[in-house]
Amino acid sequence: MDKLNQVLMRDEIRVGADLDAWLARGGGEGLARALDDPAAIIAEIAQADLRGMGGAGFPAHKKWTPVAAASDGDKYIICNGNEDEPGTFKDRFLLEHTPHQVIEGALIGAIAARANHVILYVNPHQRQSLAATRSAVQQWREHPLFTAIEQVVGSPVSLGVVPSSGLYIGGEETAVIASVEGGFPFPRRKPPFPAEQGVHGAPTIVNNAETLAHVPGILCHGAQWYRDLGIGDAAGTKLYSLSGDVLRPGLYELPMGTSLETLVFEHGGGMLQEKEFKAVFTGGPSNTLLTKRELDVALDFDSVRQRRSRLGTGAMIVVSEGTSIVRKVAEFVSFFAQGSCGQCPPCKGGTFQLMRLLNRLDTGRGVRADLEALENLCRILPGSGRCGLIDGAVTVVESSINQFREEYEALLP
Ligand code: SF4
Repeated sequence: MDKLNQVLMRDEIRVGADLDAWLARGGGEGLARALDDPAAIIAEIAQADLRGMGGAGFPAHKKWTPVAAASDGDKYIICNGNEDEPGTFKDRFLLEHTPHQVIEGALIGAIAARANHVILYVNPHQRQSLAATRSAVQQWREHPLFTAIEQVVGSPVSLGVVPSSGLYIGGEETAVIASVEGGFPFPRRKPPFPAEQGVHGAPTIVNNAETLAHVPGILCHGAQWYRDLGIGDAAGTKLYSLSGDVLRPGLYELPMGTSLETLVFEHGGGMLQEKEFKAVFTGGPSNTLLTKRELDVALDFDSVRQRRSRLGTGAMIVVSEGTSIVRKVAEFVSFFAQGSCGQCPPCKGGTFQLMRLLNRLDTGRGVRADLEALENLCRILPGSGRCGLIDGAVTVVESSINQFREEYEALLP
């Protein structure tokens, strides 16, 4: 990809936590346009087709519109930088290397929705990201631009950092709200959605850090500019976290809609030791695996969904021939079992049962009844939890059995 098309990772924009350097290099232009015409912000975001980059791909403007329409009073916008799932490492990069871009996006969101609370919710395990964000927030609070923002919002604006619990489940949007309120990050039932009833009952927007990082560019250059960065119908760019059995794992900002094959074999340098590509865990470890038959898939939300998987966070964990799918799935399900918050007994018990059965099979101690029990759990567990954790764990197990059944069978006596 032409380097100039990179929006989030341009070398000249990676100015660390120095706000003056950020503004001197063109930062703040999106904010200036937002201050000039606050009423036009949401329409611009909608025309750009900016999607939520935290996993669901939900259109960003659909979260902003109801909060903007709510009557004045306390309103919140939260930048979700909890990021804790295996294989995803984009938000920590943004918050560490270009925190002003993320904060500027959040402030533009605050102007659009007239939100008087702006919170950067950051995983404390990412210590450099947390330190850079804290420093950046302090500089924004002291900058004259902040007064201009408060004038347009129509009330004093609180801008602060809240360290998350660092738990995986703390990234679920209702868990984010519980955590910001000072409680344990227990996910809550939806509805009500955060836009209706969020932090302390106030209308709340929760957006992923990558989502907000795109906002200044859209305001600065316009919706069409952003749309044209993508391939085909896909808009903008995407940070793909590439890991696993590839020669050059890393974080790649590429046009949204780049093919899996291009990501792995062009940017990632191909497979380690020239082994055969076997599969990829897409969007983190909670989605349907894609195999080499799907190497041509365009990595955008809609195209990946058409292949019955999900783009998720944009994480791509690549697996080569010779790697045990059962072992990888056992590792990921173990992560989910440890991460279950325990509110819903089927989730706590179910994920541990899945983990136990997978470990037995993986270590050659399993029998056919274990495989049948695994399949049975995949039938009864979906939909039994308050949040998507249990469904994600089931999806990856079910997908692995459907696509690599012979590997499970080979482990049976
Ligand atoms: Fe917690 Fe699992 Fe219930 Fe989600 S589904 S709320 S992680 S117990």
